[in-house]
Amino acid sequence: MTALAKRSPIWHPFTQHQTEPSFKKIIRTDGAYLTDEDGQRIFDAISSWWVTTHGHRHPRITQAIQAAAERFDQVIFAEYSHHLAEEVAEGLIDVAPPGMAHVFFSDSGSTSVEVALKMALGFFSNRRAPRSSIVVMEHSYHGDTIGTMSTGARGVFNSTYEPLLFDVERIPFPEPGEEQRSIDALEVHCQTRAVAAFLVEPLVLGAGGMKMYPPRLLAEYRRITAQYDTLMIADEVMTAWGRTGTLFACEQSGITPDIMCLSKGLTAGALPLAVTLCTPEVFEAHLSDDRARMFFHSSSYTANPIACAAALANLEVWRDEPVLTRIQNLADLHHDQLEALRLNPRFVNVRQQGTIAALDLSVQAKGYLSETGQKLRSFFRSKKLLIRPLGNIIYLMPPYCATAEDLNLAYATINEAVDNI
Ligand SMILES: *Cc1c(COP(=O)(O)O)cnc(C)c1O
Repeated sequence: MTALAKRSPIWHPFTQHQTEPSFKKIIRTDGAYLTDEDGQRIFDAISSWWVTTHGHRHPRITQAIQAAAERFDQVIFAEYSHHLAEEVAEGLIDVAPPGMAHVFFSDSGSTSVEVALKMALGFFSNRRAPRSSIVVMEHSYHGDTIGTMSTGARGVFNSTYEPLLFDVERIPFPEPGEEQRSIDALEVHCQTRAVAAFLVEPLVLGAGGMKMYPPRLLAEYRRITAQYDTLMIADEVMTAWGRTGTLFACEQSGITPDIMCLSKGLTAGALPLAVTLCTPEVFEAHLSDDRARMFFHSSSYTANPIACAAALANLEVWRDEPVLTRIQNLADLHHDQLEALRLNPRFVNVRQQGTIAALDLSVQAKGYLSETGQKLRSFFRSKKLLIRPLGNIIYLMPPYCATAEDLNLAYATINEAVDNI
């Protein structure tokens, strides 16, 4: 009983508490490293679930948070505004794909996607031509709320909640050689003129298995949605802030979506914050003398000033520091290491997009719940390396301050891992 009584009351995310070993407490974060209660330094090779961009506790961001906390806590965001949110919004519009004009604040990636879906339905409803059908890509992930689970791939993650999920249309992932099937499927759906929005992760499908497709296809999808007045929602929650090699993944296709969702790296990983950007058309569809046409959404912590201060400092880091050079160096390091792994027959689908590197371990048991993933994870943990494979898919998505030494060690450990399990 005493052992049980000592157990933490915390219920952790994506955790089977029956089998998970005890949790090590992290007592400090610095750069690319986490320090645990035993003083071990762990290389954070997945940026603490993809949020940390420059590195943990970038001094400029930490200082901005401290300064904001001296003056602000939460401030109601209807009826009132504050300069930090205003400057973040201006700064985002300056760097976003041309045509993005309005910024709606919320507090998580899932919420930013929910907001995007509601904006899309509101756009058509307010124009007295309602549309409610949503098209998504196979293997996509857009969050864990009921609405975003509905739009994501169905599987073990959400089968329990299936009775509550709404239907969406799905187009095939553009596997190499099968691209046209995917493009044609989108066109067939859009031709019905019933599709409010095509919701898509640009260039990399993250939680669905780090599946990658080339920029020219995103441009094709954009051409089709524009042709049939379907809104395109770019879910850049994971792909933005340099992950794919450019500030936003959409840049590589030269496109502007109608609606764009940002969260994870928005504060460089320091504090929770999200935004949904949109074009003037989407915003203006909600303008009316009729109050019933306003946009009905709010989170209690909308545009939290301290989180906004972190986002503003992040924009300044992007403006003043050679972030894209760091990203290119990281991408080059991945490239060289992956070339070597391509020669190893135990790895298949070796792939890279900017700072994200992924490969599949060729094993019988695939899938998120496969034993392979668990074994790999505990091997990595024993080597002070934070990597969480998605089943048999191993990926690295380190903070941009990671050094060649950090990366080389991570790759050496991956090689060692496959020999050990
Ligand atoms: C992580 C993620 C989300 C959800 O963000 P949360 O902040 O975890 O709610 C949505 N879309 C994509 C593409 C993501 O990677």
